[in-house]
Amino acid sequence: MHPELVLISNLWQIDHQCDLLRAEHEALANAVRAADAAVKAVEAQLAAIAVQRDEAIQSTRKNDRELADYLDKRDRTRKMIDTGTAPDYAAAEKQLAQVLEIVDRLETAALELMEAVEAVEQARASAQRELELGKQVLVAARAALGARDAPIRAELTELLECRPDAADDLPVDYRSAYAYQRQRKRPALVNTRDQMCQSCQTRIPGQRIVETTLARAVHTCPGCAGWLLP
Ligand SMILES: [Zn+2]
Repeated sequence: MHPELVLISNLWQIDHQCDLLRAEHEALANAVRAADAAVKAVEAQLAAIAVQRDEAIQSTRKNDRELADYLDKRDRTRKMIDTGTAPDYAAAEKQLAQVLEIVDRLETAALELMEAVEAVEQARASAQRELELGKQVLVAARAALGARDAPIRAELTELLECRPDAADDLPVDYRSAYAYQRQRKRPALVNTRDQMCQSCQTRIPGQRIVETTLARAVHTCPGCAGWLLP
């Protein structure tokens, strides 16, 4: 390898390794954030379900009380009719018909409320299972971050300590081009195969390949400006 390419490579290896470590840390931290947000979302969903459940239970109780009252009224009216103690027979018959109609409506409502409570209970059970799973995912994500956090920081510190020397060793002629590659988030060094840049798929002039392979000169890819590796 051309000695100047070695110097570019030394700096690039440090920077590239730092990029990989930072990306790894970010991905682990993002996984924790995502898992945390998912748990909070399910908790909010459970709180909303709890409100719905309370409402359904209250409505059921109210309906049950009303139904008990009307069943009682029905029985009393029927008894008056059956025993002939109704002061006005026709009025009692009319009242019984009205009461039966209300009882019918309240019984239908009771069934509907029972179904509503069941549906809410199912939603609650499913959200609780989801919450358990979400908490497990969060614990695992936190453990993964916790396991890598200190090693990544230590590796980064070590690399960043070496960087100033490697940056000083980079010949002045390459510095702005190197900085530009970094700014564009492009690789500083690129591999070639069959005269093609493996980073941007641009065809490389044969002369550049030959001179790079023989370590006679330092060349870049005409497409992405990465320095060619032999
Ligand atoms: Zn290229």
